[in-house]
Amino acid sequence: MSRRMTALLWRGTGKMQIEETDVPTIGPKEILARPLYSTICGSDRHAYYHGLFAFNPPFSLGHEFCAEIVELGSEVDEDVQGNKLRRGDLIVTEPSVFCGKCYYCRRSEYIQCQSYLWLGSDRTAGGCFSDYMKVDSRVTYKMLDGMTKMQGALVEPGAVGVHAVRRSNVVLGRSVLIMGGGPIGLFALMAAKAAGAEKILLSEVSKFRSERAARLGAQIVIDPAREDIVRKVMDDTKGLGVDIVIDAAGDTKAVKQGIAAAKKHGVYVRIAISAGESSVNFTDIMVKELTVIGSQGYSFWPYLDMSTDFYQTMLMLKDGRFKADDIVTQEYDFENWKEAFEMSGDTEKAIKVAIKARNF
Ligand SMILES: [Zn+2]
Ligand SMILES: [Zn+2]
Repeated sequence: MSRRMTALLWRGTGKMQIEETDVPTIGPKEILARPLYSTICGSDRHAYYHGLFAFNPPFSLGHEFCAEIVELGSEVDEDVQGNKLRRGDLIVTEPSVFCGKCYYCRRSEYIQCQSYLWLGSDRTAGGCFSDYMKVDSRVTYKMLDGMTKMQGALVEPGAVGVHAVRRSNVVLGRSVLIMGGGPIGLFALMAAKAAGAEKILLSEVSKFRSERAARLGAQIVIDPAREDIVRKVMDDTKGLGVDIVIDAAGDTKAVKQGIAAAKKHGVYVRIAISAGESSVNFTDIMVKELTVIGSQGYSFWPYLDMSTDFYQTMLMLKDGRFKADDIVTQEYDFENWKEAFEMSGDTEKAIKVAIKARNF
């Protein structure tokens, strides 16, 4: 007989409710986990409100979580770094669901798997807004001693910022413009600061998020609704532009501004997703000899000589280079998920909104 659990099930655009469903059954390399503390991602909002990034309902959304081990698959005794795993251990898991056999998986580039899915996007890969979920031990990390559950839930979004900063090669002395002061933009800001960026500018429309960005280390905050981003950047960099632009704005206009704000030989990195196309004059890229980089999620590769993005993010959350308390702005009980989703869209009040599990 299958065991039953309570879960917040997504059944299509605008349709989500708390229901009874089966506890997932795990394979030999999987772990049955009890999510304890989760945060809402922009992609969860897109799924709920617009039916995007979600397939084959019903299932639970959510992929940013700290969870407790309930049961280990028959072939699981350690995490990805060789730490012994036991029932009751707190874990975080990269939400990548991957085949393990394709060209990219063989290079540990799971996020580029040719049949990639992520937890909380499909019936076969339920997310963390539920009593139980199954996770893949091959991308599971035992949480570091002393890390809080809130820090655990922020490893996933934090790793996106770490990945972008590593891809763009921010080093001591560089100037950086971060476009967008949402959770990912703020993580990129903290990561750029930790990496040694000398000057950090950030553009953001929301007053609340702008103030938060200033507190977290942005020396200059630009309001793109009132100021010309490019002119402001040029004024503050002796007319040269910045070495690195990290675009976390998701605005189709931002690309053009980012390209214009970059210094000659500069780098433009895109983390944001936007539905529309952006127009860019590639001659500007050619003339300035810019490097244009895409940054998606996080990676093991090409950092085999370094910590993975997830592990690096755990270290930074634990030692305070990533300030979890400044990112999570509200917490809701599981039953109040609807208010939580609504709050997560209020950019004048919220950065990241958390949902505590029923058995928190
Ligand atoms: Zn996310
Ligand atoms: Zn694959």
